[in-house]
Amino acid sequence: MRPAPQPGRRDLSGALEPLPRLKPGDPLPFACAGCGDCCRHREDLVLSGYDLYRLARWTSLPPRILARAFCRFYLDPDTGLPVLLLKPDPKTRSCPFFEANSCVVHPARPLACALYPLGQAIDPDTGAVEYYLQPPLCGVPAEGRTLEQYLKDAGVADRQGIDARWAVVCTRLADRLLAAGGPDAPEVQMAGRRIAGALYYDYSLREEFYPQFQQNLAALEHLLDRMLPQQ
Ligand code: SF4
Ligand code: SF4
Repeated sequence: MRPAPQPGRRDLSGALEPLPRLKPGDPLPFACAGCGDCCRHREDLVLSGYDLYRLARWTSLPPRILARAFCRFYLDPDTGLPVLLLKPDPKTRSCPFFEANSCVVHPARPLACALYPLGQAIDPDTGAVEYYLQPPLCGVPAEGRTLEQYLKDAGVADRQGIDARWAVVCTRLADRLLAAGGPDAPEVQMAGRRIAGALYYDYSLREEFYPQFQQNLAALEHLLDRMLPQQ
């Protein structure tokens, strides 16, 4: 399974040997100990559009304002795709939502946080989703829990369809940007800003994310046809 080039999302499984995949009924003997180690010294937390939307709803801030306050925006140097990274607190280098040893956005935490210490690999062509454990395993042993139960309890199962679609869309957009000249091409840089609007910013918090995502993508398709050289 080729890892999807979602903006900045890391698939450790592709780094060396693929890590063993888990099946839904496989035991997952893990419970979070609440130590907060996965929130400290974090400079790699990349958000999807759905992550940003959920945080925006939780904080009652429009997505663009929230991103300005808490994220760093850049165009991926390999593809030209827009990336939003949570900016660490300048003093502690921890996640900006880590306060008094706890997460102040816990119900709306990004996918990477809800998954941890699991990793997720999404086939960029089919959207098939696989999970694997990222060593070393933190937390405390919890017997009798399966992967399926863990994903349900962490709220990952409910959003899996949106996350899979996000990965497939990002892969297609990255391929299109590369075919149009890659990150150094001026047309691609201009398109990157419009893609950021469609993927991250142009969402009403009064409406659900997914229908807006689909509408944004349809409009973006027409826009890119005009902005980018035809393949
Ligand atoms: S969003 Fe919450 S869970 Fe995720 S790194 Fe920040 S403080 Fe930790
Ligand atoms: S997921 Fe692991 S590192 Fe993060 S708070 Fe829980 S036990 Fe600590």
